[in-house]
Amino acid sequence: MGKFRAIVVEKVASGQRAGLKEIDDSELDGDVAVRVTHSSVNYKDALAIDGRAPIVRRFPLIVGIDFAGEVQESTHPGFSRGDRVVLTGWGAGESRHGGFAERARWPGDQLVKLPEGLSAEQAMAIGTAGLTAMLSLLAIERFGLKPDDGPAIVTGATGGVGSIALALLARKGWEVIASTGHPKEAPYLKKLGASQIIDRTELAAAPKALGKESWAAGIDAVGSTTLANLCARTRYGGAIVACGLAGGMDLPASVAPFILRNVALLGVDSVQAPMPHRQEAWQRLAADLPADLLESMTSRIRLEEVFAVASKMLAGETRGRLVVGIG
Ligand code: NDP
Repeated sequence: MGKFRAIVVEKVASGQRAGLKEIDDSELDGDVAVRVTHSSVNYKDALAIDGRAPIVRRFPLIVGIDFAGEVQESTHPGFSRGDRVVLTGWGAGESRHGGFAERARWPGDQLVKLPEGLSAEQAMAIGTAGLTAMLSLLAIERFGLKPDDGPAIVTGATGGVGSIALALLARKGWEVIASTGHPKEAPYLKKLGASQIIDRTELAAAPKALGKESWAAGIDAVGSTTLANLCARTRYGGAIVACGLAGGMDLPASVAPFILRNVALLGVDSVQAPMPHRQEAWQRLAADLPADLLESMTSRIRLEEVFAVASKMLAGETRGRLVVGIG
């Protein structure tokens, strides 16, 4: 038993407050104890720290929706001391103590062993955002679409989900259109594999019921009119994955693309994704995402810097993935 450092969100009279605190081991529960070496900042973490959306559902709570590290002790039959593990979702940083901490305890049934060749730091460079990008690609593949069917579009392309989705699609041979609000990041997006870059304002206006058929597939991290425009401009028989809401949670769309063009809207959730899907996604991430590309979209910060970075993320001033080095 001992104490460890963590970012904790507490209830205060004015709402909630996030701060770096010392926590006692006895606060944690779960059959696997993990020395957390890395976490990452995702959009949901930024919302949890800022408090503008009701992400945290139990107070006080250690925030951070993902972590990677080394098992210290385990009473779960699937894990032993020294195993390298990754955890995303399952309520981490929302209803259970999460990853912005030097230590964590977690039910072994929800932990994933790191695939061979992937370090804990790389696992968090991927993090929840990258897992979501891979789950989205798997959904497109399961639907039966292939690069020969036409281009794929990625929205929020300079963000965490977007950067990894773009890189994964391009590596699999897709012609990728990247939609961004940061046109000056064109060299970054081209390096990740974008063949064409469009300004996100092109997709922001209220959509027509049907638009020019422009892509066969899409991964959307933005929602709202952007998602509606993506559907309206999808080719006959194509599919769009909805996985984010950086631009809004509404969907002001027409049914026309679905009933006249046989377009499918595929939902992707990473928080409660079933274990076989997670295992498959992590194996594919380890195999398909080159280390140098992952490195090119990764910035590193310390636990103390999470607060400032979260504010920047909500202001749209971050790029790619942000790994938090801990311990
Ligand atoms: P980031 O902040 O890293 O990326 C979001 C990107 O969206 C920004 O970089 C920006 O890209 C674009 N964007 C930001 N604000 C707006 C806006 N107002 N209108 C249009 N585009 C905007 O976040 P993440 O990549 O971590 O997450 C992206 C989304 O995916 C979030 O909504 C998050 O909650 C969701 N998500 C969902 C998961 C799931 O399980 N379904 C799991 C993980 C994330 P650019 O400037 O290039 O356009």
